[in-house]
Amino acid sequence: MNQPLDITNFLAPFQCLAERCEDTCCKGWGMQVDVATRDKYAKDAPELLEAVDTGESEFIMRRDPQTDYCVRFEGGLCGVHRDYGTSFLGDACHFYPRISRQLGNHASMTASLSCPEVTRLALFSEPTVSWQASKTDRLPYSLKDYLPEGLSSEQAWKIHTTCVDFAGNAELSPEQLIACFVSVAASLERQPLASWPDAIAFYLRMAPGRLPTPESQAADPFNLLHMMYGLLGAAKPTARPRLMETLQTIADALHVSYQPEAAAIVLEDDSTTRWMMIEQLWSMNGAPTYAPILRRWVQTQLTMMLFPFAGFGASLSQRAVLLGVRFAITRLALMCAYFTHDASLSAEMIVRIVQSLSRFLDHLADPTLCLRICEETGWVRESRLRALVGDTGQSIPLSASFLTLGVAN
Ligand code: SF4
Repeated sequence: MNQPLDITNFLAPFQCLAERCEDTCCKGWGMQVDVATRDKYAKDAPELLEAVDTGESEFIMRRDPQTDYCVRFEGGLCGVHRDYGTSFLGDACHFYPRISRQLGNHASMTASLSCPEVTRLALFSEPTVSWQASKTDRLPYSLKDYLPEGLSSEQAWKIHTTCVDFAGNAELSPEQLIACFVSVAASLERQPLASWPDAIAFYLRMAPGRLPTPESQAADPFNLLHMMYGLLGAAKPTARPRLMETLQTIADALHVSYQPEAAAIVLEDDSTTRWMMIEQLWSMNGAPTYAPILRRWVQTQLTMMLFPFAGFGASLSQRAVLLGVRFAITRLALMCAYFTHDASLSAEMIVRIVQSLSRFLDHLADPTLCLRICEETGWVRESRLRALVGDTGQSIPLSASFLTLGVAN
């Protein structure tokens, strides 16, 4: 098979870092084993069945309870890959961090920011994220088709690429872009599918002028952090040192602490003042400097979601809310790190923050708890979400510079 497909430009140069990886995917994760691969093990390599377990999915690669690594992970390398070849890797192990999508007869492949090397490439290697023609000799055994009934593959793909291209628009801040996509999602959802191909460009063009007045609440940044600790408490326990460092940076900058016994965030007397200082410093210097990086974050998320067709959430509006909340926590973490590191963010710091949050949020089995928190805080409403993502309605002077790895600080 040498099937044509589109891939994102940052995926083309991707190579797994293997033993040099700072947060290998074989640790702490139940890597799914698809039925076809399990059957292949039973037929051609029954000794490999010992490495298959049950857990987060029907079949997963067994993890060493001492190290939490896959039992076939040896010296930084995959033992199945080394001893049996790639044809013995299940889809999850073979393709990770790549994300394959099918829209009717159109296939595409992007990659997840939960991998540090992908984060590095997606945020720093190109001025903008775009799709390019490529070929592949393997696609996942089972690939969900996201093409909605009533659209052709070409129409759906065009809708998606129009959105990704719009997000590369340097005249809008990343915060405005997110607010626009939340608004466009609501507009699309109200219209019949058949109108989407003609309407998408119009909705995107009109969105900046149609946004509701942002409605902020003083508790928002604290509630974002609280949400993350709440999601962590509900998730499978495993060591997450990079994520904990990211969350601790937020807590330190805001002068708050988390009390797990009470599941509460405790504020100091000056916590609100600290947030105002963080916001002020960011809007003066950080926002224009790091807008290109956050814009590429938005574009990458859109490719991962095959926006507006896939992603977490049962409906398009739910998926848009989750996109907004993910953006808000990522931005908050960057702002807090910027504040505590003397108004400077190194490329490695950005990669650690973005990747550690993605690694956790990309693999939440179920968005129900996150959506419930969004209901309780009011973030499901466009005006509240607009304020949460930091779109104040005022324009921010955007930097034209393109930050590349190694010169970001
Ligand atoms: S997280 Fe990415 S770079 Fe690290 S081992 Fe996995 S695929 Fe390779």
